[in-house]
Amino acid sequence: MRTEQARPVRLENYRPPDWLVETVELDVSLHPSQTKVRAILKMSPNPKADALAPIVLDGDGLTLTSLKLDGSEMHPEAYVATPDRLTIAQPPAGTCYLQIETLVDPSANSQLMGLYRSCGTYCTQCESEGFRRITYFPDRPDVMASYTTRIEADKSEAAVLLSNGNLVDAGDVSGTTRHFAVWQDPFLKPSYLFALVGGNLACVEDAFVTMSGRKVTLRIYVEPGKEDRCGWAMDSLKRSMRWDEEAFGREYDLDIFMIVAVSDFNMGAMENKGLNVFNDKLVLASPDSATDTDYASIEAVIAHEYFHNWTGNRITCRDWFQLCLKEGLTVFRDQEFTSDQRSRSVKRITDVRGLRASQFVEDAGPLAHPVRPSAYNEISNFYTATVYEKGAEVVRMLKALLGPGGFRKGLDLYFERHDGEAATVDQFVKCFADANSTDLTQFMLWYSQAGTPEVAVNGTYDEKTQTYRLELAQAVPPTPGQPVKEPMVIPLAVGLVGSDGRDMSLSLEDGRPVVRGVLTLSQPKQTFEFTGVQQRPVLSINRGFSAPVKIASNVSAEDYKFLAAHDSDQFNRWEAVQSLAKALLMENVAAIRASGTPREDEGLIAALSAALADTTLEPAFVALVLTMPSEADLAREIGRDVDPDAIASARDKLRGTIGKRLGPALRETYRAMQNDGPYSPDAASAGRRALKNVSLDLLATAGASAIALAARQYHQATNMTDRMAALSTLSSYAVPERQAAIDDFYRRYSGNPLIIDKWLSLQAAIPEAGTLERVRVLTKHPAFSLSNPNRVRALIGGLAQMNQTQFNRPDGAGYEFVADTVLELDTKNPQVAARMTTAFRSWRSLESVRRTRAEAALRRIAGAPNLSRDLRDIVDRSLDGG
Ligand SMILES: [Zn+2]
Repeated sequence: MRTEQARPVRLENYRPPDWLVETVELDVSLHPSQTKVRAILKMSPNPKADALAPIVLDGDGLTLTSLKLDGSEMHPEAYVATPDRLTIAQPPAGTCYLQIETLVDPSANSQLMGLYRSCGTYCTQCESEGFRRITYFPDRPDVMASYTTRIEADKSEAAVLLSNGNLVDAGDVSGTTRHFAVWQDPFLKPSYLFALVGGNLACVEDAFVTMSGRKVTLRIYVEPGKEDRCGWAMDSLKRSMRWDEEAFGREYDLDIFMIVAVSDFNMGAMENKGLNVFNDKLVLASPDSATDTDYASIEAVIAHEYFHNWTGNRITCRDWFQLCLKEGLTVFRDQEFTSDQRSRSVKRITDVRGLRASQFVEDAGPLAHPVRPSAYNEISNFYTATVYEKGAEVVRMLKALLGPGGFRKGLDLYFERHDGEAATVDQFVKCFADANSTDLTQFMLWYSQAGTPEVAVNGTYDEKTQTYRLELAQAVPPTPGQPVKEPMVIPLAVGLVGSDGRDMSLSLEDGRPVVRGVLTLSQPKQTFEFTGVQQRPVLSINRGFSAPVKIASNVSAEDYKFLAAHDSDQFNRWEAVQSLAKALLMENVAAIRASGTPREDEGLIAALSAALADTTLEPAFVALVLTMPSEADLAREIGRDVDPDAIASARDKLRGTIGKRLGPALRETYRAMQNDGPYSPDAASAGRRALKNVSLDLLATAGASAIALAARQYHQATNMTDRMAALSTLSSYAVPERQAAIDDFYRRYSGNPLIIDKWLSLQAAIPEAGTLERVRVLTKHPAFSLSNPNRVRALIGGLAQMNQTQFNRPDGAGYEFVADTVLELDTKNPQVAARMTTAFRSWRSLESVRRTRAEAALRRIAGAPNLSRDLRDIVDRSLDGG
């Protein structure tokens, strides 16, 4: 029986821990099925809490083998131990030493939380509540302790033994085939940052000299034979370390920094102090195995986990409600890093596309929740786009409101004030308020109110008075548990663009300055009047996507065409084209559903043609301009009675029109972007490949000659980016070249599971009726395994999350297949099962046939016996909220 803590867990019920842990001495004797863990905890009553409180430690599926208090075996009546809790009702009055021995089975751990084995390597994942699967502990982030970890293992099974901190001792266990290593972490940390690794791993070593001149050893551990694919990760790590010194004055603090790549991992990567554990797909890269997108992800995630050393580890979260404190801030930091390393505007556009496709969709459905949730049943389900990506947008808005200097002052104060602490979002924001002598009370609504704010914009020009009047009105739609919302603080970067394409100077009627071109909307309705405007301007608003809101404005199609060509803000040049495309697609979806004829839009074609012809633009930017809004984004815009087939059809027709109308220019671009030199993953080279491959994909809509071109590119490609792009283009067409290439791809790469993931997801995303059967067959393929999260995400996620038409088949077979799969998966890995099920989150917005079938599948999952808490939570909220 689980002895459940009260659910849901509520922020308002937070209490400081009754007992603190000063030091943790762990002794872990690794064994495939019977690992012995001895933990000695130096505990003392929290002076801020009840003096007489019992000691209550968390566990999860633990077997206690021995318990000593201050050196003596405890009487069995003096404590209660269940698999999920250890309670000592009458502890001593002061500091005591608790010695706990548990037995764990790493081989049987298919949840991949706590201590488990991945391809023979022992590793741990403790965020958020995995440490309690290793030993009994107050497993909450506000209990920060210093750890010493001794690991012992058979030399043949685990030649490498790693934990957090610095290595202080190692040697053989005399008279046995075993050896040991002792690691000491001088920094206080919460249990979720604990890590341990043991295995026969190869290592790539490098070094970094910090800004104060300390030499840090850098090591990346991988399975033997994969060392030659670590170069990019190591290079990214060194650049991250330098950047954090230069951009934020943050220096690394231990003598060694280690990364371990493992094959079985629930998330992307984990920032354990000094010992990051990574999903191997975010470490390993070579030109013939990784695409440009893979290279960019590796660079960003290596940076992200490294940056956590300050934002997350040195200053951690008081409780899991504050998850965005470390994640939103660290995503913001890794986005800034990428912007500085690559192209700022391209990065911004890419991030906003991602935000709209995932976070805006989440915010519009039953799983919507605030950036800082106020209650949870299962915290694993809150590692969401809202916490991460919207959390980063909120930090970005602080910068927009306070300016770069004011923002830096606030962040410096945060590091100075809270280093070594477990902090809250309130404390974080207060640092910005204090450092800038400003009031951010209303701004805090960004953390507590869910939903995407909608801003209605109406601009009018009065030639007589030479004034431009901007009327703004905001509203935040209702979300589960939050029917009524307060007005938010919304920083809107604006420009008034003159007929010469230049920005006019902005002066407000009442003489207030427009600092850095940012207007702050904080009332339900506000009017700004600009004076001295000598000609009718074109409004460019929410430049750089300064606020994560939806804008509905009276900017005309003519004006969008103008902005697409002239806006000094690159983001809004892209946004102008998207706005034209979105308007056209929405209209055409309606026309297709009414058996009418889709329209063509000369303005859009002209804007795309101009972008293709403009050689001053970065190729990566042009590639994004040529990429039409995603099906998921259009579905969210439509909002109700959604027909995914009509959306796909409208989008295909538009792409076909572009391919036909711009054929010669696309062909010329395809040719011009070729590069016969050796592959380089740098941003400029990647941008040229992106534009080349977007051109190919649009050309293929127009017929056979481009299909042949794609087949040729597939077979002649000298890098994975070009090969994969060609295969992806071919996969959309039922031509003989398609299956030939798919079969060839498997023959080439069957030995590399990470590449085979691409093969699985590509087939799952084919938008045609045979795909579901194809996926069914692939679940029986030897390359697929329900035990490996990467394989599941590739194949099942490829269908459920990437294939709008085939997951949402009108006959409901897509829903039934995914329901069957998650029910089977739930018995092995509840976290991944719950994650897959979020694919249903937009079910209420579907047209009635699909809506009924999606609901039936959800209800079938809900009615199954013995659901995990993870899956139960997602299914219930999907059915309830809304
Ligand atoms: Zn993170």
